[in-house]
Amino acid sequence: MITVRKLKLTIVGDEETRNQQYKLIRDEQYQQYRALNLCMSLLSTYNILNNWNSGAENKLNSQIEKLNKKVEKNKNDLKKDNLKENRIKKINESIQTLTKEKEKLQQEYLSSSEYRSDIDKKVKEMYIDDLYTVVQSQVNFKSKDMMSLVTQRAKKDFTTALKNGMAKGERSLTNYKRDFPLMTRGERWLKFEYDEDSDDIYINWLHGIRFKVVLGYKKNENSIELRHTLHKVINKEYKICDSSMQFDRNNNLILNLTLDIPLNIKNEHIEGRTLGVDLGIKYPAYVCLSDDTYKRKSIGCAEDFIKFREQIRARRYRLQKQLSMVKGGKGRNKKLQALDRIKDKERNFVKTYNHMISKNVVEFAKNHKCESINLEKLTKYGFPNMILSKWSYYELQNMIEYKAEREGISVKYVDPAYTSQTCSKCGHVDKENRTSQEKFKCIECGFELNADHNAAINIARSNNYVK
Ligand SMILES: [Zn+2]
Repeated sequence: MITVRKLKLTIVGDEETRNQQYKLIRDEQYQQYRALNLCMSLLSTYNILNNWNSGAENKLNSQIEKLNKKVEKNKNDLKKDNLKENRIKKINESIQTLTKEKEKLQQEYLSSSEYRSDIDKKVKEMYIDDLYTVVQSQVNFKSKDMMSLVTQRAKKDFTTALKNGMAKGERSLTNYKRDFPLMTRGERWLKFEYDEDSDDIYINWLHGIRFKVVLGYKKNENSIELRHTLHKVINKEYKICDSSMQFDRNNNLILNLTLDIPLNIKNEHIEGRTLGVDLGIKYPAYVCLSDDTYKRKSIGCAEDFIKFREQIRARRYRLQKQLSMVKGGKGRNKKLQALDRIKDKERNFVKTYNHMISKNVVEFAKNHKCESINLEKLTKYGFPNMILSKWSYYELQNMIEYKAEREGISVKYVDPAYTSQTCSKCGHVDKENRTSQEKFKCIECGFELNADHNAAINIARSNNYVK
């Protein structure tokens, strides 16, 4: 699966070096822009010459065809009865002239075909095979392999343009803009590594340029998720494909990192083994295997969560109270901003928490070779015991889904009804079965278990799928 991640980069080094190296990248980008447009013009010229060539051929052919038809017509005229001597003579003369004319054209066709194929060859040599040399003489790249990247790209775009109707005149030539992203080779040019002392990620590029990856460049792009991806890049689990870099509106250097993420092999899974995930109140998530129910794990802890939320709520309450007392002006704006920040903080906490839970759930499933994961389908009202908001549960399930998908584990949704009231041993369903929030005791067979564990088993084994 091919995917592109945007990374903000800064060049490492003293100011002078950095300025030089930024300039090098900009210069290279400028050379590339010229080279691409030159390639495109050459390819287009070649295409026009080629068309002109076959146009001349077609013209001769149709002239010969017309003469053939005229001769045919004259021959038919001869077959008519009661033709006068004089008329017959005239027709025969005409046939002779036409035939001579035709032979002349045929001769021309033959002799020029050699010449045409020669042009074909020359044009092909000049414009296609030597495209590289022709363009290289016009531009000045610092990186050697840039020429082959450029010709490859131009040929590809040209072919696409032809297919999309350029030959029919429905589209004109591709025109590359001045800020066309600078192409870069993948694995060979982009060498990712961790800093020895910190968690920072660096990339060694060409010309001794060393980039630092600025994590959390975009607010909506989660830096934890990005870090996770880059970790796999450094571990060579993900392949780096040909990528590109550009400067954004604020002059930030952005790497469009193209990755080939392998879809993990299915046969590593134990057939039919499912992981049940109970999203609950004491533990945000409780997971258990469908076949080996002793293998289970609680993920996260409600206490951290409630504590954090209460702190946040207390702060918000204080701010709101202060707000009601200030009438306006600077003080009010400052307080409003502080309120916004609290909102962000709360959101970030939940998001980070959800990342942690989803990562653990999928890792558990992967380590125990599960074929699939069963989640409860969220109802209109959420879950009976909510610790997170409904929206946050959606987010959590989403995260589990995409992280599982990357491991080749499918995610299915089961009907949440009775999962906490059913005895996982005898199957008896009763409201009375659950004696407390934490404990499950079957009134039929006397089976006792942690309530979350019991629910997780039921979810893991459920085939009451809904979607
Ligand atoms: Zn029972």
